[in-house]
Amino acid sequence: PFEVLIVGGGPAGAAAAVYAARKGIRTGVVAERFGGQVLDTMSIENLISVPHTEGPKLARALETHVREYDAEIINGQQATKLEQVADGFRVTLASGASLTGASVVLSTGARWRRMGVPGEQDYVNKGVAFCPHCDGPLFKGKRVAVIGGGNSGVEAAIDLAGLVGHVTLVEFDKMLRADEVLQRKLKSLPNVTIITSARTTEVKGDGKRVTAIAYEDRTSGEIRDIALEGVFVQIGLVPNTEWLKGTLALDARGEIVVDRHGQTSIPGVFAAGDCTTAPYKQIVIAMGEGARASLAAFDYLIRLPAE
Ligand code: FAD
Repeated sequence: PFEVLIVGGGPAGAAAAVYAARKGIRTGVVAERFGGQVLDTMSIENLISVPHTEGPKLARALETHVREYDAEIINGQQATKLEQVADGFRVTLASGASLTGASVVLSTGARWRRMGVPGEQDYVNKGVAFCPHCDGPLFKGKRVAVIGGGNSGVEAAIDLAGLVGHVTLVEFDKMLRADEVLQRKLKSLPNVTIITSARTTEVKGDGKRVTAIAYEDRTSGEIRDIALEGVFVQIGLVPNTEWLKGTLALDARGEIVVDRHGQTSIPGVFAAGDCTTAPYKQIVIAMGEGARASLAAFDYLIRLPAE
């Protein structure tokens, strides 16, 4: 059995592993795909002290750093169940095997909901983006669309309007769903166009980069194109916590509820990164939270009664 069993091998899980292993306690990391969302990212320019890196390179660096310590990495394995057992917790894997830990750090991350239209997948990192904090500056002076008129879409559009040439906000519904104050702010900006009742149907490109999106005007049924260089898809970030439903407290979005120590509703189970209720989903934040969760797990372990 491990003393700290970490589920998820993205930036949060890697940081948790380094911090746990440095305490000299038996540490294991089980991950479906070690590296996490970073593997799907091209350019990373906001990891402080690393002015520029690329996703696959950062993923390798995360693994190298974890392997410098005595932490065991179990890659390519999906956790399907978490249970409390006599001496801690058992995590069951899709393969049928199971692992146990005296404490657990959950860091299973999240995934951006996709539109599921032709061209979207082909142009990820070639104009299709999901994170305005990450990729906004790459579109300086250019034309972009934001898909989605909820809070995150409208926040993204306001943020991008200060960086890019022009923003078109595209909403499926008849009206935006964002808070009134955000909508007012958005409507006050000179370089923003808002299109409602619009169903995005395609991301178009020249093979190398995005050149346009097509949408159906849901009132007239007409298909129209918008020429642009970038598309930010803001229709939801889904935490990878389906397997934890009914086991510990999740909020309405499925995010694991944590306190300021990263403690979940089960003592001894901690969580960090994009899978939690902690706001702002970023690499540097996930790393900080992973470190904090392992320090909290260590505090928990040293308070367990001696056998
Ligand atoms: P993740 O990176 O999502 O890692 C989750 C880990 O858990 C993975 O190893 C996964 O395989 C594993 N896992 C999930 N479910 C299970 C399960 N049931 N059992 C076992 N393992 C499981 N952030 C920035 O700061 N800067 C950027 O430039 C940037 N660009 C981005 C570009 C793109 C295209 C995307 C998608 C995201 C970007 N982000 C960026 C966001 C950043 O990648 C995330 O905030 C960060 O990766 C979150 O780290 P995490 O460890 O919490 O989760």
